[in-house]
Amino acid sequence: MAKTPILKVAINVPLSRQFDYLPAKGAAAAKPGCRVLVPFGRRRQVGVVLSHAAKTEVPDAKIRRCIATLDDNPLLSAEDLWLLRFTSEYYHHPIGEVVAAALPAALRQGKALHAALTVVAISDAGESADIETLAKRAPRQAELLEILRDAGGNGLEEEALTELLPTWRRAAKALFEKGLMHRFAIRREDPEPPGVSAGQPGPTLNEHQESALQTIRNADGFDVFVLDGVTGSGKTEVYLQLMRDIIDAGRQVLVLVPEIGLTPQLVSRLQNRLGIVPSVLHSGLGDAERLQTWRNARAGSAQLVVGTRSAIFVPMPNLGLIIVDEEHDHSFKQQEGLRYSARDLAIARAKHRDVAVVLGSATPTLELLQHCRSDNYKRIELPERAGGARPPAFRLVDLNRTPAVDGISEPLAAAIEEHLQSGGQVLMFLNRRGFAPTLICSSCSHVTECTRCDSRMTVHARDRQLRCHHCGSYRPLDTTCTSCGAEVKPLGEGTQRLEEALQKRFPQHRIQRIDSDTTQRKGTMDAALAMAEEGVADILVGTQMLSKGHHFPKLTLVGIINADQGLFGTDFRCSERLAQSVIQVAGRAGRESRQGDVVIQTAFPDNPFWQCLIEGGYSQVSADALAEREATRWPPFTRLALIRSAAHKQRDAHAFLDIARQLVLEGAAEHLRVLGPVDAPMARRAGRYRAQLLLQSSNRKALHNMLGRLRPILEKEPLARRVRWSIDVDPIELF
Ligand code: ADP
Ligand code: ZN
Repeated sequence: MAKTPILKVAINVPLSRQFDYLPAKGAAAAKPGCRVLVPFGRRRQVGVVLSHAAKTEVPDAKIRRCIATLDDNPLLSAEDLWLLRFTSEYYHHPIGEVVAAALPAALRQGKALHAALTVVAISDAGESADIETLAKRAPRQAELLEILRDAGGNGLEEEALTELLPTWRRAAKALFEKGLMHRFAIRREDPEPPGVSAGQPGPTLNEHQESALQTIRNADGFDVFVLDGVTGSGKTEVYLQLMRDIIDAGRQVLVLVPEIGLTPQLVSRLQNRLGIVPSVLHSGLGDAERLQTWRNARAGSAQLVVGTRSAIFVPMPNLGLIIVDEEHDHSFKQQEGLRYSARDLAIARAKHRDVAVVLGSATPTLELLQHCRSDNYKRIELPERAGGARPPAFRLVDLNRTPAVDGISEPLAAAIEEHLQSGGQVLMFLNRRGFAPTLICSSCSHVTECTRCDSRMTVHARDRQLRCHHCGSYRPLDTTCTSCGAEVKPLGEGTQRLEEALQKRFPQHRIQRIDSDTTQRKGTMDAALAMAEEGVADILVGTQMLSKGHHFPKLTLVGIINADQGLFGTDFRCSERLAQSVIQVAGRAGRESRQGDVVIQTAFPDNPFWQCLIEGGYSQVSADALAEREATRWPPFTRLALIRSAAHKQRDAHAFLDIARQLVLEGAAEHLRVLGPVDAPMARRAGRYRAQLLLQSSNRKALHNMLGRLRPILEKEPLARRVRWSIDVDPIELF
């Protein structure tokens, strides 16, 4: 007889190791990919079997048995397990937490993959029972037995039976006891996926699109394509043709989109053109919907899965293509817990599956551009707008000569007037909500700060509140300075204030503000966007949310209210980011017949960045930025990892990182730089002191080896109990 295998189980705890168990009593060993219920300390936990082993280091007396096997067949395939392991290793994050993050909540909690239905049926003894005799003594039992006999051996689902005979449960007890009927569970089948219809034809591809399509089609197995196409160049049309090929070949397509890119507009465009209903995955779904999509993807019946970052983990046995749209978007990187980049995992997954991955953007990140230069990835350009629309024209407004009043300078006001007069729609863009109005006293210069964070409070004039955007605390708006008692007024241009100022100047026009304040409630975002798209609103006011992927047919003018903060950021990525946000929002203008205008207000019109962007576009800015990064040895020419810590005592936060620093220096090769520990850019947040330690290396392998050694030691460090800490591999928010 074969020796009982040891099960290596992933459990959702913050420890980077697997746990060994014996199979459940009397049961066969659960296969890798199955969930098991296990005793863990004094609790019970749901775990996933990763592999079988012949032996264990746990002494015989101590090793415990699984309580139960939760899946008859593996929930996760070998490929799925590979991706989870890879994620755990690359991001130096505990495997149990990675597995938990990848599973829908219901499965994580141990619920069945398929909901079960209970069925009752007549037994053999029941079939041969004498119903007439029974009817004399117990008419209700006879009635029930009669119904079950009519229903036959497959029986009736309890719910259906209740409809036929609401009181059946009273009679059932006696029949169960006499063995005349029995009960069993069956699996609830998913509804058939909606049928495939022909789908509407799209435009004939232009020459650039056609050549892009052919290049990608000709890929033989794994290849990374960077589809570098200006806004409105028809990238989505290229995706659609590729999806068609793969779906027609009976394979599955995974499309990752930014959080805000998953609009009903995109979903209905895919549906109309492909003739299938895409399976959608995003954070707004309920647990049941999420599980259903996951199940359909796993079963292979979902041919097209469109989702935000966590969709990268969805099982797809017939995966044939991955598309990442707007790859530069920050929402692909998770910023807490498991800090993974869905874009980077898409590349890893495609490689493991030996399929193509297409990363599209009008403003590709420098990391990708560098890979294209060194021929790891293939860059495909779509240099022109499709359908004849012209690129927008840029103009700078010098705020030193024509200062802004309530956020708007005279030249910008005149441009708005002119575009509205000729029936155009205008978009006023505020670079990020973070540059929101603060409450500053003009007598003593006191700025109101959050009492729990090192952060200024933001004025929300309409609700007459001060809010902290970092910890969420709020309080009523002060009318007098808390420091000197003088009367105070909000300063700066928040979206709300801009909206009010525009309403005053253009009272006859309809204004729609779209930012995270106005769109917090479910569905309000979609409604606001629909209003904007249909042109009901003449003036749109918004933040980054409005700049992504939307198509507003009537929009002809974009005003960039406050671009300057981006010129002087401390982050090495600041010029890349400013260029991305300006190009993306500018790309909303003039997507149809009339050429779009973009007006940028700046107090630094002579800054070389602006000339470079306006004359050379994103390709010039990115080329310059790459040269600078190479000279200064920042990514993509080096690799980074950031260790963060937060504690109630500042001392603890730093001491923990001092230990980490020491460990790194002891084991480190010379090509590793250790910077810090220093206070985090926001040194205090929600009552905790925060610090960080930056590791930089030109040798990725060496950096990863070091992190791999470091993590288990830090987990055992006694100080770790007083500190919240994390490792962020390839961090994108540094300073
Ligand atoms: P992107 O994804 O690059 O922003 P889209 O694929 O959404 O671009 O295309 C922008 C607009 O141009 C859409 O309205 C689309 O229908 C239209 N379009 C795309 N390709 C063509 C083409 N070959 N001929 C005519 N119109 C096109
Ligand atoms: Zn705060």
